[in-house]
Amino acid sequence: MSRRTKTWVEDKSRAKRIEYAERAPKPVRYTSEQARALERKLVASKPGKYDSAVADMDFINSQAFADKFKGKYENEQVEQAVVKACRQLVKNRNGTFFEEAYFIDAHTGRTVSYVKGKTKNGIEMSEELKRHLTNAREKSIIMIHNHPNSSPFSRADYLTSSNYNSCYEAIAIGHNGDVFSFRNTFGTRGDFLGYFEENGKRFPYYESIRDYRVSYSKHSSRGADDYEARDLAWKEVSKMRGFIYEKR
Ligand SMILES: [Zn+2]
Repeated sequence: MSRRTKTWVEDKSRAKRIEYAERAPKPVRYTSEQARALERKLVASKPGKYDSAVADMDFINSQAFADKFKGKYENEQVEQAVVKACRQLVKNRNGTFFEEAYFIDAHTGRTVSYVKGKTKNGIEMSEELKRHLTNAREKSIIMIHNHPNSSPFSRADYLTSSNYNSCYEAIAIGHNGDVFSFRNTFGTRGDFLGYFEENGKRFPYYESIRDYRVSYSKHSSRGADDYEARDLAWKEVSKMRGFIYEKR
């Protein structure tokens, strides 16, 4: 290789490096809060990471977690009871795929009932508890359960919350500290269309569940993972059917 050609090659590759460096995304400065949120998002989107259902107790015990509930309830007593119940559920079930639930009085914060799931990813409510939820005053109860894999609500969660006029709010608390909330779901199911099966269980199929199914498939066909597709679908269905869905 002649000296001249070598210089030419070096110049060309230097020019390429500069061009590449200019195209590369610039480093972004995050506040520690933003960085933590970003990291949680990245970790949560990695399949398998939460297979162990190990909870982020540092975050869940932090003030930042408690702040997600600030001003959302009738009084501070209720707010504190909700935060405490969320922390307790995740602490009890840390590292397992079992779920449990607290039922809290939306006016006083008093625990109405506490249920431990006996199978993976699910909770069976006793007939007595169902009767209680049916007969309790309108919007008087907050239902809270944990999601070991930190995913947004399932269809069964919607069906349960929309079944009771007494439900003020349904909360799913992820082991990563994500909080999902349904409010005003009662009366938003639409017509009964039949049944569907999930994990060997039979569930009633309503217009709202059909809407969810359509929206979920649309987002997952566009490349959304299960977490994103559920989140986007509940956002859409809540607008269509007039209930409140919130991710905190
Ligand atoms: Zn659930």
